[in-house]
Amino acid sequence: MAERRVCRKCGGDGADGFPLVAFRTMTLRSGGKIRKYQAMGEVLSVDLCPACIDAWTAERSEPRHQIIRAMKFPVLLAVLAVVIHFLGQNDILRWALCALFSGFAVAIAVTEYCRIRREVSDIRAVRGNFSRNHMIEELAASLLPRKHEDAHLSYVLRSRVMDEKQHQQISREYGLSRKKLASVRNYLLVTPESEVNNYLKTAEAAKADSKKNRKKHSPA
Ligand SMILES: [Zn+2]
Repeated sequence: MAERRVCRKCGGDGADGFPLVAFRTMTLRSGGKIRKYQAMGEVLSVDLCPACIDAWTAERSEPRHQIIRAMKFPVLLAVLAVVIHFLGQNDILRWALCALFSGFAVAIAVTEYCRIRREVSDIRAVRGNFSRNHMIEELAASLLPRKHEDAHLSYVLRSRVMDEKQHQQISREYGLSRKKLASVRNYLLVTPESEVNNYLKTAEAAKADSKKNRKKHSPA
């Protein structure tokens, strides 16, 4: 009998399992330089039904909600400009501030509007960074932790990680290095399924041990 899969989003039957690879990106600032470290995280599976994937894609291709969200900051700046205009003396500083705030408000509003339009037309045409696979990854990510300790987490379908031809595209979508993608692919190719997540447990245990030891040795 086929395995019964329950959708993680709606709890309904008839979901498909989507194996994903998590990637951790840590951003470290040292001496004015920003360095990014990427590492493989957990390999996991998320069950999603086709209806939820369609609903997510439909919501993402509807620009209204995104525009409303993106316009909050420019509107705040515009309100600030109006408040400044009606407060205080009619001097040059007030006019300069007014112009500055309204200028920023317009610039941000236009940039955001264009970005959202472009994104939406890509989603509708299922092209660029917004393939159906990318929509599945986004929906899965919305149901999974975004951070692990200091690392930001990205989730990529395992089938895409295993397909070398997609590495350039994945790198564009998530800013992951192609070298890291290739090494994760190689790791998954040669590692037996039962051991895939073991190295994480070993790493976590080693970390916990070193924390314990530090506590032991630190003066009370
Ligand atoms: Zn569902």
